[in-house]
Amino acid sequence: MDKVTAILDALESQYHNEENPPELGHPEPLDGLILTILSQNTNDKNRDRAFANMKTLYPTWPDVIRAGASRLEEAIRTAGLAHTKAGRIITVLERVHSDFGEYSILGLAGREREYVREYLRALPGVGAKTVACTMLFDFKIPAFPVDTHITRISRRTGIAPAKSSPEEISRMLEGIVPEARCLGGHVNMIAHGRAVCHSQRPECGGCVISHLCDKISL
Ligand code: SF4
Repeated sequence: MDKVTAILDALESQYHNEENPPELGHPEPLDGLILTILSQNTNDKNRDRAFANMKTLYPTWPDVIRAGASRLEEAIRTAGLAHTKAGRIITVLERVHSDFGEYSILGLAGREREYVREYLRALPGVGAKTVACTMLFDFKIPAFPVDTHITRISRRTGIAPAKSSPEEISRMLEGIVPEARCLGGHVNMIAHGRAVCHSQRPECGGCVISHLCDKISL
């Protein structure tokens, strides 16, 4: 059994997110895309507060466009980097409307995996992790988003080189992990990073993948 598979198996035995995958998607994938833009460099709680406040003040995407960047910036302030994120959101919404004639990216559903990836990646301010999250959660297209926890675990265990970037790790995992395991495996690795493999003082003594880990110090 290869090491990545063994790690995914051990994490699944601990966290069970493959058996019971969380529902992280949205009926309209554009909502997921904007939510992920808001999540950049902040935690889930602040992201969700910003998204909820935006939706309360400006319930529809045309409302957001009419409000404009500076009022949107106020609405999403809890997410941090509000000025940058507001500008990105407005630009993405304008691009989507120009491409699809509506504030929706449902037109991408059913397209080839790489077509969807390239379309999303070309949107301003949308990076590899945001693309992979939108693909995996909202379009149910196999992808492996890599955040700070997954980067850390991949480097420490030795399944990825110590200097590899999150985007490189994502591509490596997408090439190895079976499609059906991407969502649960992604969530399990994040759970492990939060619960055990902390960035400072990882709890290696109680770690279910300790026997598989090179324990490379970063
Ligand atoms: S053994 Fe330690 S460094 Fe390796 S994954 Fe577990 S907690 Fe992280």
